[in-house]
Amino acid sequence: MAVDVVKRCRATARLDLADHDPRETFGWDKEAAKLELDEVMGEVDALQTRLFAAEEHAVLVVLQAMDAGGKDGTIRTVMRYLNPAGVDVNAFGVPSDEERAHDYLWRVHHHAPTKGTIGVFNRSHYEDVLVVRVKEFVPEGVWRRRYRHIREFERMLTDEGTHVVKLFLNMSADEQRDRMQDRIDDPTERWKFRMGDLDDRAQWDQYQAAFRDALRETSTSSAPWYVVPADRKWVRNLVVAKILLHHLRAIDPQLPPSEEGLDGLVIP
Ligand code: AMP
Ligand code: MG
Repeated sequence: MAVDVVKRCRATARLDLADHDPRETFGWDKEAAKLELDEVMGEVDALQTRLFAAEEHAVLVVLQAMDAGGKDGTIRTVMRYLNPAGVDVNAFGVPSDEERAHDYLWRVHHHAPTKGTIGVFNRSHYEDVLVVRVKEFVPEGVWRRRYRHIREFERMLTDEGTHVVKLFLNMSADEQRDRMQDRIDDPTERWKFRMGDLDDRAQWDQYQAAFRDALRETSTSSAPWYVVPADRKWVRNLVVAKILLHHLRAIDPQLPPSEEGLDGLVIP
């Protein structure tokens, strides 16, 4: 029987990351998985066209991971199957002065996808309960109450027609070491590495705890989190594709009705 991967990756309020193996393959074969990616994303592409035409719903895909966890790679490999006209990718780095002068949801809300489109957040408002917590940029009382803000913010988005799908790319510490080493050793990749990445790596356990708590506190039925096995890129890509397909099928966007009188119309 086929494994229900989407269900298996879904985070619950009792999430334990030890139950999610970053090297999981679900028994898939690499070559077959690549072919299946084409198939799954072909269907997602067709559904995206309907989403775009209907202009009733949007999809927000939130990508979070440690450095080198595959956020950029996922966007490059999976999203390239979609019509770029209907996709809006935004990355959230260290907040600017203007962003810092506002509440932490301001900068992300501004980039929430318009109806008919798929928005992708490369990092997101979750940084404000992740890096901000680990680096102690604010006291515990401040980041803790943000879980509630975030649940309510995402609830508002879903009530208003934006489906929120959140993906934690779950990479192992060993895999991160290898990828960082590759980045340093490859001159074309070196630009991606910052010395500060080593400080984050040294706080691996604190980040894992912050991810676990964020996922437990904010994975809801209307805005679920998924733990995507991310050590193998080919597994990661197919899992992400299957999750997207699952959600687009649930939306089931319908083409808008055509104007009256088009049946049998012959262009003069
Ligand atoms: P990168 O994704 O490699 O471009 O790095 C972006 C950096 O911005 C990461 O080190 C994040 O931790 C950091 N960052 C993102 N959002 C915030 C935030 N709200 N506060 C502080 N740092 C942040
Ligand atoms: Mg980085």
